[in-house]
Amino acid sequence: MPNPALAAQSLLKKHAVDIFPVPIESIARAEGVMITRKAFDGTQSGFALRDGQTRIIGVNSATSPRRQRFTIAHEMGHLDLHEGKPLIVDHAMRIDWRDDVSSLGTNEEEIQANAFAAEILMPARMIRPQVASYVRGKGITRDRLIVKLARDFDVSAEAMGYRLINLGILAS
Ligand SMILES: [Zn+2]
Repeated sequence: MPNPALAAQSLLKKHAVDIFPVPIESIARAEGVMITRKAFDGTQSGFALRDGQTRIIGVNSATSPRRQRFTIAHEMGHLDLHEGKPLIVDHAMRIDWRDDVSSLGTNEEEIQANAFAAEILMPARMIRPQVASYVRGKGITRDRLIVKLARDFDVSAEAMGYRLINLGILAS
């Protein structure tokens, strides 16, 4: 079974990404993945399509820019981890920020794609020192910490909140 976090780390290393927010779209394009945007109807948030050597990620442009970044990261997870699947269509309900079994994404592949997305957009090795810098000194409230980190990493506060819980930095 592929390890989603290790796969995400190796992609960051390959593209020498040491800064945040992580340039997820540039990484995808550098990997030869085409990204198309369209305002989809309904709850569809994105898809990953494989056709021979061609790999395409579709993003629902009607969603927020931060949600679109997460969608690209999530679909990159599918392309990286789940070979042999020609088409995976994701709906907003299936893409949940949590990467544990308590999330709505109970499907194993969805859990893996979310874990990949969490690690590539919010790498533990970048998050931990940033948390330390905010907590140092006079301290910071939980909500303020989440909002600041969400801005730093260009993800939703919801995604960052779950990430900090999953990393054991915040209690659930
Ligand atoms: Zn998915």
